[in-house]
Amino acid sequence: MKIPIEKQIKQYYEKDFSNFASNLLIRIKVTHIAVIFLLIINAAFFTSESTSIIVQLIIAILIGIHDYDDNNLKKALTKNTLQAIKLNKVATKDHLTQIPNRRYFFNMGEKAFQLAIRDKTECTVLFIDLDHFKKVNDQLGHDVGDDVLKMVAGALESAIRISDILARLGGEEFAILLPNTDLSGANTLSESIRKLVEKTPYNHQGNEIFITVSIGVAKRDKSDLSLKDTLKRADLALYQAKYSGRNRTMTEAEIHSVNKAS
Ligand code: GH3
Ligand code: MG
Ligand code: MG
Repeated sequence: MKIPIEKQIKQYYEKDFSNFASNLLIRIKVTHIAVIFLLIINAAFFTSESTSIIVQLIIAILIGIHDYDDNNLKKALTKNTLQAIKLNKVATKDHLTQIPNRRYFFNMGEKAFQLAIRDKTECTVLFIDLDHFKKVNDQLGHDVGDDVLKMVAGALESAIRISDILARLGGEEFAILLPNTDLSGANTLSESIRKLVEKTPYNHQGNEIFITVSIGVAKRDKSDLSLKDTLKRADLALYQAKYSGRNRTMTEAEIHSVNKAS
């Protein structure tokens, strides 16, 4: 039976902890108590120098065993921690594009979002969707579609700051959380991403294939309790961008003005 990845990670951490706890108890019991016991015996009963030296030698050996055991435990713990980090990386990376996946977005993004609530800072979300992507698959094949997704992911990655949280949410949909960014700043980034994708053709057997994206932008509202609330409004703005003709950015503020005008 295949164990889910998050369960494997949990097991690694639990194993680390139980190994550490039980080893620590055993070591305290065996070596520390033995050393203390021998020290007392030595001080109380052995007056001759030679017998005292023998007891001190035994103590030194016991401490050596203790340190050896301690080093082995440290090595084992480091190995387990590294394995856990590796597993965690696999679990949070999108296998196709190699950028973070949905799970990462909602884990890290939610943390950044809650921090923004606590610090009362601005925070915005971009919801990005490739235009008419089904056509790329239908006309050029699924493998070309995959390559296009990788290319777009690379473009998105090149456009953001290190503190921004980018992920492939699934299919041909991506999201970016921008901490400390207002709607106007997010709109500027969104437009530069849109233009970058628009002017970067995919080379297919010598032919240039042009791809476009539509982007919905929303900012954290005071009533938003979680990242999902803001993302939902970015999705609504994206829908409006598609409806208005695709290859465009739509902010939630623009939706309101569109609705008022109509
Ligand atoms: P719209 O402009 O309205 O977004 O149209 P669209 O064709 O992009 O949207 P639609 O939702 O109809 O199609 C999305 C397509 O994305 C359908 C699906 O086959 C394709 N897709 C989803 N995941 C992958 C993937 O991992 N690789 C490839 N090659 N295609 C994918
Ligand atoms: Mg879609
Ligand atoms: Mg699409």
